[in-house]
Amino acid sequence: MNQSANVRLEGVVKRHGTFTALHGVDLEIRPGEFFALLGPSGSGKTTTLRILAGLEPVNAGRVLMDGADVTNTQPGERDVAMVFQSYALYPHMTVAGNIGFPLRMVGRPQAEIDGAVREAADKVDIGHLLDRRPGQLSGGQQQRCALARAIVRHPRLFLLDEPLSNLDAKLRLETRAELRKLQRSLGVTAVYVTHDQEEAMTVADRMAIFMEGRIVQTGTPKEVFMKPATVTVAGFIGTPPMNLLPGSLAGGEVLVAGARLPVQGAAGGAARDVTLGVRPGDIRIAAQGIPAQVELIEDYGDSTVVDLDVQGQRVKMRSGARPGVTEGEAVFLSFEPEAAHLFDRASGLRIQ
Ligand code: ATP
Repeated sequence: MNQSANVRLEGVVKRHGTFTALHGVDLEIRPGEFFALLGPSGSGKTTTLRILAGLEPVNAGRVLMDGADVTNTQPGERDVAMVFQSYALYPHMTVAGNIGFPLRMVGRPQAEIDGAVREAADKVDIGHLLDRRPGQLSGGQQQRCALARAIVRHPRLFLLDEPLSNLDAKLRLETRAELRKLQRSLGVTAVYVTHDQEEAMTVADRMAIFMEGRIVQTGTPKEVFMKPATVTVAGFIGTPPMNLLPGSLAGGEVLVAGARLPVQGAAGGAARDVTLGVRPGDIRIAAQGIPAQVELIEDYGDSTVVDLDVQGQRVKMRSGARPGVTEGEAVFLSFEPEAAHLFDRASGLRIQ
């Protein structure tokens, strides 16, 4: 098996006519990592993946694989395999034919192809379906066939573009875990595009968050969750996402909706406009604090999400136990000083 790749993008710019899809992207993906490219639709994730695959030329910058400049190298010479959302299987070929296709393209002998096809198919549990055609497979089986075709050549880099988005919710969860196991067992570097933050948070070793053609943060899921770099990232990560309220910061306290609450690590300096972020799980009902009205109580069995109104703004609180409040009730909200995330109101950048 080939070793897994180290991948770097340096100052990559991509334009489509007058539209700039990537504004100078820098990124390093380490060998064997499961790395997610996460961001809203149109933020540049697929473009980045296609550039890694060699399917898209760049306007500026470099692509490096294991230290070698592959910026102008053809896809076939990069030793990468890509799995698309659509699977892109050949309908007229059998499963075996589809899986073996990349090896036939490079002229490997039939006996070797047969062995490799069998091995790849067994790894994804479709060894019993080799004679079928894609049209005779379920969505999950088609997805496995696409995966087997990707791993058959033992690529050093595995590129996955929303590979689970055509599966139903339950199958998606199962396949997500299997995909992670498969990647681990192959030891291959994987780059995984998704707009689903929960998916990225659960499968990725590290991730890059894209917004409007730029990477705004790179880190482990935990780092991004604990310390979102911008207010936009804060509002994008977490289920439900972080509550964001306008406030003013002065002397180690934040003033929000008429209430003053202590916050950590923000003492001193002149008063400044901030956006206060507090995760739903960090909010609690208290004897004093931010005045709010209970709008809706949603019971999820193992947790409860309460929708609250704070001066016309929606705030969500999540708790394990059912909180002792009723819909329509006036309450006060509080949080621990260290649970506050503070962002500069004008720039959106994290303070601290
Ligand atoms: P999605 O999750 O919707 O796939 P994405 O983050 O993968 O989004 P990209 O597909 O990378 O986004 O596209 C980034 C931007 O570049 C989008 O605004 C898109 O409209 C634009 N774009 C992509 N390909 C072209 C093209 N060939 N011509 C013009 N604009 C393009």
